[in-house]
Amino acid sequence: MITAKFGGTAVTPQNLRYIKQILTPCHKIVVVSAVGKEYKEDVKTTDLLRQYYENPQDYVWNAICDKYRRLVEVNGIAVDVEALLADAKQRATSYGVEYCMSLGEELSAKVVASFLNATYLEAEEIVRFNSGKCDYELTYRNVQNALTGVDLAVVGGFYGGENGNRQTFSRGGSDVTGAIFAAATNSTLYENWTDVYGVSVANPTKVHNVATVDSMSYNEMFLLSLAGAEVLHPDAVAPVEALSIPIKIGNFFNPNGASTLISSCPSSNKLLSIAEKVVDGKVVTTALHSYPRWQIMRLVSKFFQQNTAKIQFFDSEREFSSLKVYDLEFSDNMVRITTDLSILVQLYKTLIEGEQSAYFSS
Ligand code: ASP
Repeated sequence: MITAKFGGTAVTPQNLRYIKQILTPCHKIVVVSAVGKEYKEDVKTTDLLRQYYENPQDYVWNAICDKYRRLVEVNGIAVDVEALLADAKQRATSYGVEYCMSLGEELSAKVVASFLNATYLEAEEIVRFNSGKCDYELTYRNVQNALTGVDLAVVGGFYGGENGNRQTFSRGGSDVTGAIFAAATNSTLYENWTDVYGVSVANPTKVHNVATVDSMSYNEMFLLSLAGAEVLHPDAVAPVEALSIPIKIGNFFNPNGASTLISSCPSSNKLLSIAEKVVDGKVVTTALHSYPRWQIMRLVSKFFQQNTAKIQFFDSEREFSSLKVYDLEFSDNMVRITTDLSILVQLYKTLIEGEQSAYFSS
């Protein structure tokens, strides 16, 4: 049995058809996000919903409606989308902001359930929160009960219910719902379908032609998620790790292309991956690796020697004469550099070159 989660880019008018192409008789649960971005400057449904809650203007609600109307129309889905939207609007500002933000996933799941002729499950009734935290035990029981006699179920990710209201996980939390359903059903595999080829050695939007990491351990994935790799929510690891259910992160545009398998086996790559995130206005770049400490120290010092070199960005080339380094931390299998600027591309190049020369010399 397989649990599959589809990110927001799959739930868009042009891409919804890919979901049908991926599903097999082994798939029993489909978890969906709210309609995502169709182009770079587009705004995610979840952000529009937050905006609408804070300032309920018609043009914002219309932008949300437009996304779901086109999703239904382009894919010829037999569902009364106007009734769904009117019902959602009635509830949009009556509860808290989290309730409002959950409506995107609810609408997606209702539409996708019709599209797939599957059973719609209401996440509010199944994924239960207690004092703002998910009650896993109760939720697992609810999942098992809800699935009795069901061939294929569709559920909205990201939210659950508590005391007549709704709670959400943090952003990107549909991954957590997917992990919960995979664990509750003891699935053989948790598939997480996104618009990139799994976990890359560095952020593929910043580094050209970056390789996918074929496999890594749960802990490596968790550390990378914490370090800023947005491909999987960090809280999506523990529920499936507890039952040794592997996670496959793949690209729905090309399901048989490169992907990452997360299981108990650690990666064999010397340089596993580099991730970056901004904390309190500072850029924290983390590299996960399995170099001996002397070797990674040598590579990092090479990076600092080269620091006056030109750093190639996608859109421009900038020259840095000085890089303000706030912190430099070496721990087992991890280097963390806190700076005032993004150094991901340059650090990646230094480490990759180092890795290649390590291969040549062995
Ligand atoms: N739609 C929510 C978000 O944009 C949750 C998710 O997509 O996982 O964060």
